[in-house]
Amino acid sequence: MRKVLILGGTTEGVQVANKLSEDQSLILITSLAGRTQSPNKVRGLLRTGGFGGIEGLVRYLDTENISAVLDATHPFATQMTRNAMSACARAQVPFARFAREPWTAQVGDDWQNVENITCAIRAIPSGSRAFVTTGRLKLEPYFARDDIWILARVIDPPVFQVERSRGTIISKRGPFRTEEEVQLKVSNKIDLVVSKNSGGKSSYGKILAARRLGLKVIMVRQPEYNIGKLVFYSSDLVLRWLKGLFGKDLCGRNT
Ligand code: NAP
Repeated sequence: MRKVLILGGTTEGVQVANKLSEDQSLILITSLAGRTQSPNKVRGLLRTGGFGGIEGLVRYLDTENISAVLDATHPFATQMTRNAMSACARAQVPFARFAREPWTAQVGDDWQNVENITCAIRAIPSGSRAFVTTGRLKLEPYFARDDIWILARVIDPPVFQVERSRGTIISKRGPFRTEEEVQLKVSNKIDLVVSKNSGGKSSYGKILAARRLGLKVIMVRQPEYNIGKLVFYSSDLVLRWLKGLFGKDLCGRNT
């Protein structure tokens, strides 16, 4: 039996764990940072909390006898990815990234691409009513601006209060249907959307809704940190990679 560590925290992390769990010869351990109060259920074993930097992860790989690491963290969770790459190189454990391809603007989209959340906040025109989905951690600076109104959506409630005149925060877990996204924007008189370019299908509804309503989107670019790594965009390719590493008996099939 081989142990595979999946660094999760994403829909794709759950999906790839479910796919790999079809193979009885693998022991899967999904690792979560522990940021979300009620994470999605995942097949296989679960561990929660940071490893304690690169050193801590090197120790974990050794004591748990991990045979491969699959990094399925969110495209914006760059610290964990950097740590995992360094730790795997040191512990000589095979490493691959399971990633989402970034979205690209389609006909009918009106995007302004920006480098990071600070740039996104600056780019919001005065007087806007903006729908913001860039996460809980860097939310406060949006509400520091007194010339805009913010509807922010996060998974877990943030730990600060918002004056009603500055906006409101809703905590809800997706995925959301495009119709719901349209309705939310219309009923709150939203005229601008601020989003991370997270890629994937689960949060694309808000982008489709913006296109349908003709709203501008301030889009925070994905950090370009997939370059130079072994990157997979499908769980079938991940299985093939593991087969190559561990022999041809995974899933009981030779291909
Ligand atoms: P980050 O900045 O890349 O990581 C910060 C630290 O959190 C890491 O050094 C590590 O602590 C710990 N950590 C992160 N992911 C972990 C995991 N899967 N298992 C164990 N420890 C983990 O990460 P982040 O942006 O705060 O995101 C945290 C988690 O939320 C990630 O797992 C990510 O997939 C998920 N997520 C992030 C976003 C986003 O926009 N950033 C969106 C949706 C979901 P140690 O150094 O102590 O090991």
